[in-house]
Amino acid sequence: MSSVNSSSNSRDRLAKQRGIPTRCNCGEKVARFTSRTVKNPGRLFYCCPMGSEKDKTHLFKWTDKSVVEEIEDFQELFDVLLIDNSEFQRSVRACENMLKRHESRIEEMEDAVRRCQEKTIECISELRIIKALFVCCLLIFFIYFIYA
Ligand SMILES: [Zn+2]
Repeated sequence: MSSVNSSSNSRDRLAKQRGIPTRCNCGEKVARFTSRTVKNPGRLFYCCPMGSEKDKTHLFKWTDKSVVEEIEDFQELFDVLLIDNSEFQRSVRACENMLKRHESRIEEMEDAVRRCQEKTIECISELRIIKALFVCCLLIFFIYFIYA
């Protein structure tokens, strides 16, 4: 399992999985080996324990290619997260602005309620004055009819 040749690239397509492989299509867990060929000395690769150099039905994948795919996928995910984060930040700013508008609206409504309470107190005192005037008028009429 420690020697490979360049024909193993066709087996990369069999794996159908990006990044670092974990299982072969046959279901076996893949392991990492070191190439001892003259063409790729010391190069790491993932391979199915059931596979061999000539058997193209089992997984074979260079570790450096797998890591590059992992980094590419992570970069795509990172880009998506950056976009999501900027959209989230925009939403947060919009919510903060809306909250400020609502807070100022609440302050306006509290002022209106305060003015209404003051007007109500004024109305009650005016009604008391009117009531007192009405009682006085009634008394004057009553006295007038009695003594006239
Ligand atoms: Zn396999």
